Amino acid sequence: MLERLKTRRVERLPEAVRLEGRILFLTEDPALVRRQLAGEDLVWDPSIPLRDNISTDEITPAYICYYYDDTLGDFPYLGLKCGEEFPITRGAVRAGGFVASVSGKRRGKGSSREQSPYAEMCAGIRLVIAENIERIYRENCQNLGILTSTDLGLVARIRGGETIPLAEFTAGQGDITRGIIEYGGLFQYNVARLQGRVHVPPLATPSRPMTLAEKIIARHWVTDLATDRVGARAVRPGDEGFVRTDIRFSHEYVTPMSAIFWRDAVGPDEPVVDPSSIFFFRDHLTFLELAMTDERKAEGLLDVALELKRKQEEFAEQQGITLYGELPRLGRNMLVQGSEAICHSKMLERHALPGQIIIGSDSHTPHSGAVGCVAFGVGTTAIFNSWLTKDVRIKVPPSVLVRVSGRKPDNITAKDFMLQILRQPYVKNGQAIGKIVEYAGEAVEALSIDERATMTNMAAEVGAFTGIIAPDGVTAEYLVRERGMARAEVDTLMAGLASDPDAEYEEIIEIDAAALQPMIALPGDPGNGLFIAELGQRVAVDIAYAGSCTAGKKEDMDMYARVLREAAEAGERIPPHVRFYIQFGSQDVKRYAEAQGYVDIFQAVGAEIIEPSCGACINAGPGVSYDRETVTVSAINRNFPGRSGPGQLYLASPYTTAASALAGYITAWEPKEAPVAG
Ligand code: SF4
Repeated sequence: MLERLKTRRVERLPEAVRLEGRILFLTEDPALVRRQLAGEDLVWDPSIPLRDNISTDEITPAYICYYYDDTLGDFPYLGLKCGEEFPITRGAVRAGGFVASVSGKRRGKGSSREQSPYAEMCAGIRLVIAENIERIYRENCQNLGILTSTDLGLVARIRGGETIPLAEFTAGQGDITRGIIEYGGLFQYNVARLQGRVHVPPLATPSRPMTLAEKIIARHWVTDLATDRVGARAVRPGDEGFVRTDIRFSHEYVTPMSAIFWRDAVGPDEPVVDPSSIFFFRDHLTFLELAMTDERKAEGLLDVALELKRKQEEFAEQQGITLYGELPRLGRNMLVQGSEAICHSKMLERHALPGQIIIGSDSHTPHSGAVGCVAFGVGTTAIFNSWLTKDVRIKVPPSVLVRVSGRKPDNITAKDFMLQILRQPYVKNGQAIGKIVEYAGEAVEALSIDERATMTNMAAEVGAFTGIIAPDGVTAEYLVRERGMARAEVDTLMAGLASDPDAEYEEIIEIDAAALQPMIALPGDPGNGLFIAELGQRVAVDIAYAGSCTAGKKEDMDMYARVLREAAEAGERIPPHVRFYIQFGSQDVKRYAEAQGYVDIFQAVGAEIIEPSCGACINAGPGVSYDRETVTVSAINRNFPGRSGPGQLYLASPYTTAASALAGYITAWEPKEAPVAG
């Protein structure tokens, strides 16, 4: 397949571009937007207020993201709020013949969803102009071939029929970004790389002390894609290039759109490169039908969402890619049974290895960093391109060291560590965004791999590029015990995987584990952490949720069982006003919980046991709230508004979640006996 692409004609865009079509101004005034949609070309006057802070949620609300092909072109800006109104209706932008879309400050903030610029592109938009543009949204535009600019002066020139020099859109960009723009998108640029027509500038970084993550990145640095040369002596923060991946994975929210890109750009019958290192997952929307409102079902959105599952299955089968899918449905009514695993759970249980580079279509991909690999989330176009090149674009981020010292109290968990880290000013102020976070210190070394995964997983909440923990004896034992690997093989893998003593960290954060108390994060943000003792009032709970990739692992089940065992033996049950859900992260975890007798304990206290899936964590399964008054205590990783329904969601550790379910209000757990062997 690569041979065929090596002869495919790809050209740079012309040196000047002509943009033919109308210009849509996204204004504060809904009437002005409606007049443009009705055919009027707005006479531009800088005193007209443009909409600022247009989020990707407004460009394509979450339910729109169930669409994955050019149907998305019917929907851009459906969630755009102008004044108190939503003036843009289905199909209106596409019908309007617009080529450029203009708005104010911070265009494209929020979620990294690539559906947003893709919807705009499918509606005919070729140029986005805004006072300033958020980084990920801008990169997604560039990857898709949409031009971006902060120059409102372009409006008059486009209307005047002027051709615009392409250099105006590439000014100030690095070599790689400039190449991607000049070739009209990441795919065309990559084909040119495969053909040896463009070369990523060679690395000039001399040998230097490196962090663990930098060493892994250097080992995977692609020096020449055309001749398949990989490996660099050293990297440093700011180096730009591509790294060879060991594993690429995606879930049903992303795979179908990537598959459409593959079909259209590469060819429907072309095989992906090295399918054995690609994995698909059906995990996010498995239980959606149990959580979606009747109103949305009446709009046909459940059928649209189910298409995501079918398309992923078709592509997996056609390409011979392993799909960790949905369990067979039951009976004539086809009752949903859950999934094989949440993507991150399975990556860690079965696939991730020390020293690897793993990319996934999900922000919590750093989960696998628990075994000492560099794992990070990427967008749809990056996943699709990785099926072709096996590599991914990277700009080496600075590193931050989080050292957790001391011996933790028995009722403190990795989740408490993270809630404490998330309330550190450096993290709360956003200074850790985009950085590599390396966790170390004796309290981290004392954690199991499952608990370490809670920390690397929640690097996403830190806003980090990734989270990583150096592999050690605990890692080796895990790989031997859980994967059946030979110790010698593990030792070979782990050789050299440690940060140099004089490696550079932009910041070092010190946490004293011995001083910690059980924590809770108040609704709204994982950074709203408090010691439970500081809550100051009794908070009654309606729902307790114990599951997700963060809290559905084997050791999480150990912790739930440790809290609930005594109550079960005493014949106690959770109070009638509380609904307590325990959801496994994978079938492996479920089998483990059954073998340990935990399921009997859970059922004895009245917990509802749920098969694996993301479920309530993504507002798509049992355990979600349906009104603002409902209070939930949850062991998941984030509690942004609406994340798990409209209610008030408090984040807590597995111990606290189980203890609060039993008590009926938020409370810490006080251990009376030794830990359950896990
Ligand atoms: S369980 Fe939640 S955080 Fe984890 S992958 Fe699923 S939706 Fe994301």
